[in-house]
Amino acid sequence: MKKLEIELADRIKGLPPYLFASIDKMKQEAINAGKDIINLGVGDPDLPTPAPIIETLQKAASNPVHHQYPSYVGMLSFRTAVANWYKKRFKVTLDPKTEVLSLIGSKEGVAHLPMALINPGDTALMTDPGYPVYEAGTLFAGGKSVFVPLTIENGFLPDLDAIPDEVADEAKLFFLNYPGNPTAAVANHAFYDKLVAFAHRHNIVICHDAAYSEIYYDNKLPVGFMEVDGAKDVGIELHSLSKTYNMTGWRIGFAVGNSNVVGALGQVKTNIDSGIFQAIQEAGITALEMDDAPLAAIRNTYQERRDVLVSGLQKLGFKVDPPKAAFYVWIPTPAGTSSSDMTSKLLQETAIVTTPGSGFGAGGEGYFRMTLCVSKERLQEAIDRMERAGIRG
Ligand SMILES: *Cc1c(COP(=O)(O)O)cnc(C)c1O
Repeated sequence: MKKLEIELADRIKGLPPYLFASIDKMKQEAINAGKDIINLGVGDPDLPTPAPIIETLQKAASNPVHHQYPSYVGMLSFRTAVANWYKKRFKVTLDPKTEVLSLIGSKEGVAHLPMALINPGDTALMTDPGYPVYEAGTLFAGGKSVFVPLTIENGFLPDLDAIPDEVADEAKLFFLNYPGNPTAAVANHAFYDKLVAFAHRHNIVICHDAAYSEIYYDNKLPVGFMEVDGAKDVGIELHSLSKTYNMTGWRIGFAVGNSNVVGALGQVKTNIDSGIFQAIQEAGITALEMDDAPLAAIRNTYQERRDVLVSGLQKLGFKVDPPKAAFYVWIPTPAGTSSSDMTSKLLQETAIVTTPGSGFGAGGEGYFRMTLCVSKERLQEAIDRMERAGIRG
């Protein structure tokens, strides 16, 4: 029989074009040609999950108590471990019953939050460049995305005063992410204070994505949004165990903060998913209660890699400063070279995979992103290949 002509929903048709498609294709061609690819494209830790976390999962997985449907909002013991971690890390008090929600990775929380806050036609603010899921989640809820530019002159923080009042008054939700992907920018206390005032003035819910708060350098801990006065009155913060504990494959994160927003996100989720495998939540408790030594070792590894890559790039003439946090290096392309020309050239001439800045929004044009998720020897090899190919900043 003839196949149905399937008409896809507008929300699928309205998705922005997948800008990494041509890079994926070129990458596959290079692999097929037997080239030795250095992948600096993916933001996915190469190091293993610390052993105590794995041991907890192994034990918990064989306990039948955990084989049934988990609690929708997360086990109270997991949510309590989150609250205790928050107290220790940020000196913020959270009620684990009403101000903490488990997530199947923070991406899941980002994608579902607009369903709790956005009606069709409503607008959400988000930064450009930024993590693409903010836009996709908003679109799926029928909302419209309004992009707030990030520029190097402002340290890749949005200029809140430059957002027109009528735009801000219309918006229901504002997604921000510091330390940032892809820019690796860090926000400070003064910025968050301003953000809280902005949220009050325009009645906007803030969603701060803090996926990289624990990947920092030179012992300078990034400020958390929840740390500033009044943050809990205006919004939530999302966290993930993915990047902090090398657990991207495990799918566990959490939302904290304003109990109305946390509760509404929980309501959406209750109707869609059924929570996280409890054995993984048990492993998550082990992670959150772990002492700092394994994390310090992970940070140290990234810091060594950062220093190799950034000093190598600087020697090649690229104008780049060492990032203070996150495992990304956000690099201006040489004058006259577009983001996608730069990433194509690197792939074709040196077999190095990078990400074009334009894949994170029009505001990322003129930049490309390299990750620190390969060994320092491979990063040095990448620099050597660029030098041999005559690729300079
Ligand atoms: C990696 C990442 C996440 C999502 O991580 P999960 O694995 O879904 O917890 C969220 N936000 C940003 C900015 C990220 O880079």
